[in-house]
Amino acid sequence: MTATNKPECSKRVFRPGAFRSSPCSFAGKVERDGKWYCKRHDPEVVAAKRAAKEAEWAAERAAQRALSERKQIVAAAKADALAYVKELAAQGDARAAAILEPLDAEADR
Ligand SMILES: [Zn+2]
Repeated sequence: MTATNKPECSKRVFRPGAFRSSPCSFAGKVERDGKWYCKRHDPEVVAAKRAAKEAEWAAERAAQRALSERKQIVAAAKADALAYVKELAAQGDARAAAILEPLDAEADR
């Protein structure tokens, strides 16, 4: 850092269409480990934003996992129920046979 009254942000940035990075043009507002940063590039702000994003993604993954587990439980219950109804139908249960009738008709098509 140069000894000026107005420190500049230490972060180098890529401007649209640029092939090389250039210094951030904002004034340094906070000093971290001897370097100055503008409000946007303050490492603590950057880390906090990243942590917030990661927490958001983790919550989304957890919600997806919960939904997936719920679907598996429902699918397993449906398969069990169908197997049981088929078992009852095989034993001559008229109501079970009636339940299976539309499924059999669908399979015959
Ligand atoms: Zn900056």
